[in-house]
Amino acid sequence: KTNLPRPARRRVMTVANQKGGVGKTTSTVNLAAALAMHGLKVLVIDLDPQGNASTALGVDHRSGVPSIYEVLLGEVSLADAAAVSDQSDNLYCVPATIDLAGAEIELVGMEGRESRLKEALPTGAFDQLNPDYVFIDCPPSLGLLTINAMVAAEEVLIPIQCEYYALEGLSQLLRNIELVQNHLNPNLQVSTILLTMYDGRTKLADQVTAEVRKHFGDTVLRTVIPRSVKVSEAPGFGQTVLAYDPGSRGSMSYLDAAREMAERGFGGE
Ligand code: ADP
Ligand code: MG
Repeated sequence: KTNLPRPARRRVMTVANQKGGVGKTTSTVNLAAALAMHGLKVLVIDLDPQGNASTALGVDHRSGVPSIYEVLLGEVSLADAAAVSDQSDNLYCVPATIDLAGAEIELVGMEGRESRLKEALPTGAFDQLNPDYVFIDCPPSLGLLTINAMVAAEEVLIPIQCEYYALEGLSQLLRNIELVQNHLNPNLQVSTILLTMYDGRTKLADQVTAEVRKHFGDTVLRTVIPRSVKVSEAPGFGQTVLAYDPGSRGSMSYLDAAREMAERGFGGE
């Protein structure tokens, strides 16, 4: 049914950048929706207490619903906390409720505090969901929640906003990734960088784009996500931009980015 390659092995991607408002959540839900639209099975794990990814996927995240918080505590399985999005039968989301706000501190005293998400990700025959792609939408910090995401994943996707301070703080993020690689997860790699909120009317956007490409080379997707009102309106309707306005530039660019990611593959597969 899909004209995108199905990965030979599940791809687990952490979407991280400790800066807020750079397009982590927007990229997570729209790339996920784009892959699901092509028939691939996708699970989004909302790891931000704000629950913005849950909102955009139309998944209930009021306090009390089974969420990633209970999964991290070991009270609920990931499959039991996953809800299907009303936008696609192939698209699942483990929501984040406001209860997750305390988890950053609660986790400190827990056994295996850095690997609780990894332990919760089922494998093989035990996996009822069996997704082709898992996206983990991180909060805007480098705390234990983001570390859990980096331990659970093999790939990091870094969205970078095409604006003046784009590269600020990036070295801190890369340093943290290196620490995780050295101590907790040697398989982790920055596989994908996605330029977001590109405004073609400004010279600055082109300068940032050129600088990021110079630094990171082929890790940067050729597709750039334009700044678009439709993209920012969609979450207000509990939708991805693919559902809200399928023909829009924003929607098309996320479809292109998803295709590029899928065709590129990971780890030679
Ligand atoms: P993060 O998850 O990194 O904090 P978000 O994805 O929530 O960032 O994006 C921050 C804000 O920018 C949101 O209001 C979102 O709707 C808006 N936004 C994200 N991408 C675009 C875009 N391509 N065009 C216009 N607005 C965007
Ligand atoms: Mg976010």
